[in-house]
Amino acid sequence: MKKLVQSITALLSLLAALLVYRSVEWDWPAYLAIAPVEIDSAGDLQQVARHLAGAVQIRTVSTQQRAGGSNQDFRAFQRYLRETYPTLHRQVHLEKINEQGLLYHWRGSRPDLDPILLLGHYDTVPVIAGTESQWTYPPFSGAIAEGFVWGRGTLDDKGMIIAQMEVVEQLLREGHQPARSIYLAYGHDEEVGGRQGALKISQYLQRQGLRFSLVLDEGSIIAAAGVIAGLDRPVALLGHAEKGYLSVKVTAHATGGHSSMPPAHTAAGQVAAAVTQLENRQRPAKLEHSDDFFTGILPFLPTGQRLVLSNSWLFKPLLVSYLQKQPALNASLRTTTAVTMLSASPKENVLPIEASAVVNYRILPGESVATTLDHARRAVDGTGTTVKALGSGTEPSPVAPIDGFGYRLLQRAARESWHDDTLLVTPRLVLVTTDTRHYHPLSDEVFRFMPNALNLDEVATIHGSNERLSLKNLELMLRFYRRLIINADRQTVAG
Ligand SMILES: [Zn+2]
Repeated sequence: MKKLVQSITALLSLLAALLVYRSVEWDWPAYLAIAPVEIDSAGDLQQVARHLAGAVQIRTVSTQQRAGGSNQDFRAFQRYLRETYPTLHRQVHLEKINEQGLLYHWRGSRPDLDPILLLGHYDTVPVIAGTESQWTYPPFSGAIAEGFVWGRGTLDDKGMIIAQMEVVEQLLREGHQPARSIYLAYGHDEEVGGRQGALKISQYLQRQGLRFSLVLDEGSIIAAAGVIAGLDRPVALLGHAEKGYLSVKVTAHATGGHSSMPPAHTAAGQVAAAVTQLENRQRPAKLEHSDDFFTGILPFLPTGQRLVLSNSWLFKPLLVSYLQKQPALNASLRTTTAVTMLSASPKENVLPIEASAVVNYRILPGESVATTLDHARRAVDGTGTTVKALGSGTEPSPVAPIDGFGYRLLQRAARESWHDDTLLVTPRLVLVTTDTRHYHPLSDEVFRFMPNALNLDEVATIHGSNERLSLKNLELMLRFYRRLIINADRQTVAG
């Protein structure tokens, strides 16, 4: 007996030693060696802010009813870019796709190098009627005050377009000639699906047989220090993959009649049972995307978290049960199931002849629209309901490599443009869908990242009230795109 206790104790201390060893024995991420770069010609920030203010004042609003808003506003925006960036519009080729999609091609001197493609959209969501008074400055004023440019579209994402145009204009004036071609593509209907803008631009580029070494769109940001629990540093979250999308309708039919003589289960009851089963039979959790997420930040997490994360082979059940309690983390673990709409009888004393529920899935990369639909059908088994897909859904994106040209280029530009060396960089699964879904045929290295350091309050203003871009972030974008364009000319980007 004593021997057994001894050997168990010995085993436990060996295990403890192994766990600690694995949590301290990491390689410091190599990107930490990339230092900030002095940039003295970032341009006149106040003037750039005024340029953005002018762009915000043009109401390029997309609504569901009218994709692309009024043509007049969109034409005014195009004219505004032409007048504000004259050198660019003289020297860079502009092709209008489907009249309002803007495709700029800054020709490189080395046609043998695959070009890079920067995406954006110049439409915005509307301001919900009745919420105007919640804005500190009117939503289309472009007011420059309190260190911000205020207005709809500043963050999403006219600020990004203005920063890119500004940098190209400036580099052209300095006589810069890129080796690698640079394309800028700005759609006019991203907020209502991008089928007239991004999709048409992508098809146009595909017809030319082009392949890109990097495609970059919005969709992820820099989490300001403190936003990620346990981390007091800012983290550039490079969106290397994005979830897919599918809604299904679950339906039950019955004969109906008066509610004074009901069957044991009405159509509504059947749908309720199906909904309960769907919620109870979630898609399984997979750790690979959260593992990716921790690659760039692991050494900086508190010891307890690091111990668990670096020993996920042992702690997987514990880790999953911890992560899945928080909706934002759970969403990176699995295909999520959200029951969103219910309908049944139109009257309280009438039995429904049809009842239905709509369930919205966000599909994890590696799974598909077909596997999700199949799962839903099996999950409602025995309830007497049927499951039908609403529309064709969107497949999850491929996962871009995090050791390739594109990731390294973004990582380097982010580190070089941040004001000190505290910025961490890590890959991240994007939970919403972006215009990039139209661009996958053009590149294996499609990323979503806008170099804005935002806290949660600022994130909430996107599509909400008081949307605003800080001058600090505007300056950061100018620095970032400048470093990106200059570094893109290295054939391989180290670090
Ligand atoms: Zn957007």
